[in-house]
Amino acid sequence: MNGSSLVARDRAHLWHPYAPPVAPLLWPVVSAEGVRLKLADGRELIDGMSSWWCAIHGYNNPVLNAAIEEQAGRMAHVMFGGLTHEPAVTLAEKLAAITPTGLERVFLADSGSVSVEVALKLAIQYWRSRGESRSRFLTVRGGYHGDTFGAMSVCDPVTGMHTLFQGFLPRQLFAPRPPCRFGEPCGDVDFASMEALARRHADEIAAVILEPVVQGAGGMYFYSPEYLQRLRALCDELGLLLIFDEIATGFGRTGRLFASEWAGISPDILCLGKALTGGYMTLAATLTTREIAETIGNGEPGVFMHGPTFMGNPLACAVANASIDLLLGSPWQARIQAIEAGLEAGLAPCRELPGVAEVRVLGAIGVVEMEKPVVMEKLQPALVEAGVWVRPFGRLVYLMPPYIIDEESLAVLCKAVVRVLSGKA
Ligand SMILES: *Cc1c(COP(=O)(O)O)cnc(C)c1O
Repeated sequence: MNGSSLVARDRAHLWHPYAPPVAPLLWPVVSAEGVRLKLADGRELIDGMSSWWCAIHGYNNPVLNAAIEEQAGRMAHVMFGGLTHEPAVTLAEKLAAITPTGLERVFLADSGSVSVEVALKLAIQYWRSRGESRSRFLTVRGGYHGDTFGAMSVCDPVTGMHTLFQGFLPRQLFAPRPPCRFGEPCGDVDFASMEALARRHADEIAAVILEPVVQGAGGMYFYSPEYLQRLRALCDELGLLLIFDEIATGFGRTGRLFASEWAGISPDILCLGKALTGGYMTLAATLTTREIAETIGNGEPGVFMHGPTFMGNPLACAVANASIDLLLGSPWQARIQAIEAGLEAGLAPCRELPGVAEVRVLGAIGVVEMEKPVVMEKLQPALVEAGVWVRPFGRLVYLMPPYIIDEESLAVLCKAVVRVLSGKA
C-alpha cells in the first residue's frame, strides 16, 4: 500500500483533531492487533495511547469483533424513538449495576461531548421543573469536558481557548484547580475557593461539574479524592447537583472501575464514554438518579428535550456490552497494578532528564510533564522512529496503554519515551 499517496489524498480533503488544515503530520495505519499499530510502510508501533483512553482491550479483539458481527447480522440500527431493543436495555442494566449507587436512568448519546451537553441540560431542566431558572455551572480550572459549546464553556478557560469563542460561550464559574494532590489530604485551605464560590452563587448554580480525581486533556493532573468528599457534602448542604465526567476515567483506568470510587461517593449525574465500547464505536452515556428523572417528568414539558438520531445504536450497545463483560471477566485490577508499577519504574529515569518538571503515575496513566511545550514536529517523528505510538500535547508526554499490554512491550514503550526525551533517539 502506498502510504505517501494516502497522506497526499488525506491532506487534500480532511481535517484532523486540533490540527492545521495545511499539511498536518500523519502516519498512515493499515491495521492494528493487540497493542500494535501497523503502518503502511510495514513498521509496527507499540500503542501507548489506547486511541485516547478507548482501546482498553487492545485492537482487533476477537470477542468484540464477534459482538459487532453478530449484531450487524441482526440489525445495525433502528431509531430509538418509540422503539427499543435488547442491546440498549442490557447496556442500561449493566451500567446501572456497575456505576456508583443511585444512578439508574441512562441516556445513550453518541459522543462524550454530547453526553456532557445532556448532563448540563438535565441539570437545567431539573431546576426548571422545580420552578427555578438556574443556568450557571460551577467547575474547576484545568478541566476538559469536550468540544461542543456547552462542554467547552466548562473547560479550562485558557487551554479551552475561551477567548477565541468569546461572545458565544456561556460564562461559567471557575474555582482554582484542586491544589491537594492525589495521596494527600484536602484541608480547609485547599477547598476554600470552591466553597466560597459555591456559597456566593448557590441560588444561580444548576450544578457543579468536574472530572473526579484525574483531569485528563486539561493537564493530566491527579488530585485528592478528599476534595470530592468535601464537594459532595457541600453540594448536599446547598442543594446543588453534582456532575462527574468520567468519560476518561471510567472503566478501570485509574485503578478503580470508576474514579468516584476513590472518594466513595456518587454524583447526581455521571458521564461515560471513551472506553465504553472498548474503542470500537462512538458511544457515550449520561446516567442520573430516579429523582432527577422523575422531577423532569413531572415538570413542563414533561419530557427531556434531547434525542440524537443514532441514540442507542445497537451495534455500539452490543460491543459495549461485550467490552464490559470482557473487562469484568478479566483480572483488570491486577493488570492495572502491573501497568502502574511498570510505568513507575519505566518512566522514573525521566526524573533525571533536563527539561522534565515532574513524572507522575496513577493506575494505567503515566505522565511526564515538561517545563516547556514539546516541539511536536520533532518529538512525534522521533517517537515513531523509536517504534512507539505516543502523542504528546503541550508540556505533556503521557502513556495510557491498553490494559492487555505485556511487561516487555510496556518496558519498550517507557524506554522509547526516556530515550527520545533525553535527546538520544
Ligand atoms: C474525551 C473527553 C470528553 C469528550 O468526549 P468526545 O467523545 O471526544 O466528545 C469529555 N470529557 C472528558 C473528561 C474527556 O476525556
